[in-house]
Amino acid sequence: MSSKYPVVLIAGDGIGPEVSKAVVNILEAAGAPLEWIACDAGLAALDKGKEVMPEETLEAVKKHHVALKGPCTTPVGKGFTSVNVQLRKKLNLFAAIRPVRSLEGVPTRYENVDMVIVRENTEGLYSGVENEIIKGLVTSMKVVTVDGTERIARRAFQYIQKREREKLTVFHKANIMKMSDGLFLKSVEKIHQDEFAEIPYDTQIIDAGCMKLVQDPTKFDVLLMENFYGDVVSDLAAGLVGGLGVVPGSNIGFEDAVFEAVHGSAPDIAGKGVANPLALLMSGVMMLNHMYETNGDKQIHAAAESIKAAYNKALAEGDKTGDLGGSLDTDGFAKAVIKRLT
Ligand code: ATP
Repeated sequence: MSSKYPVVLIAGDGIGPEVSKAVVNILEAAGAPLEWIACDAGLAALDKGKEVMPEETLEAVKKHHVALKGPCTTPVGKGFTSVNVQLRKKLNLFAAIRPVRSLEGVPTRYENVDMVIVRENTEGLYSGVENEIIKGLVTSMKVVTVDGTERIARRAFQYIQKREREKLTVFHKANIMKMSDGLFLKSVEKIHQDEFAEIPYDTQIIDAGCMKLVQDPTKFDVLLMENFYGDVVSDLAAGLVGGLGVVPGSNIGFEDAVFEAVHGSAPDIAGKGVANPLALLMSGVMMLNHMYETNGDKQIHAAAESIKAAYNKALAEGDKTGDLGGSLDTDGFAKAVIKRLT
């Protein structure tokens, strides 16, 4: 008999609470044996007079090791440091794994897109170290370390082995950023040669790589890149399969894992009840699969399979939210999935 597994739930802000509620309802309806530990972060925490990234939330993730997280708003040009960046750095969630796949019922320019973006999550241009040297002169530091790059490279190759994927492609700009991207590239190449030489591997200068990606994304398999490139290319790749409403993600370290959609808090549609909960739902399925790999509980696995089949069926039969050309709202889509659970 299964026990209930604790999962930290960070609903986030903007569309976060709406999509989180829909996803929790679906996971519960599917019989996933989870106990939700609700924690605050971002604007929701500030509203309650807490820090933007409360220590108690970090402690909860460290204690329970797994979290499902809605998006948190990042103010542009001022205000606090990104909650998402803080969380990833403070919990050392160094690997963002983001599968980008075509879905039946979501027609786009390309069929059969099936790639995975592996984004380094703690270094690069998102080090958060910016300085005004003198008035009118600002610098932003790009941090690349051998250790940080080797661990993400190892994680990407291990992912390829475990999932029986085909190839790793590194996006970089080492022709211009010879030292920082140069070190990134050299470190990945070392891990490839020393530990994973049997796995096909190539590199692309990022601008040319992006052009090839939009020309024919089916030619790519697993992509590895530094933090900032990974952020941009994830959204670009989302656009190839139907948009931000359909791309899930995970942030994984050695101990802890936080699952969240690639999209942000979408303030333009927040509170209207129209956001697509699918990306967070897919992140929830990734979370269940991760938990199953750890605890082997068949009930967890069954819930993941049932949800996946149900959302695929709903999409294929035309039950979709507005961003995908459908007419359902957030709750309507959640109900359409729940109705198809087996
Ligand atoms: P951030 O900088 O926080 O990562 P972002 O730049 O990726 O955010 P989003 O907040 O994700 O921006 O929104 C980008 C656009 O995509 C907006 O027009 C938003 O309404 C739309 N969008 C994002 N997520 C969803 C969703 N789940 N359902 C429908 N539309 C969405």
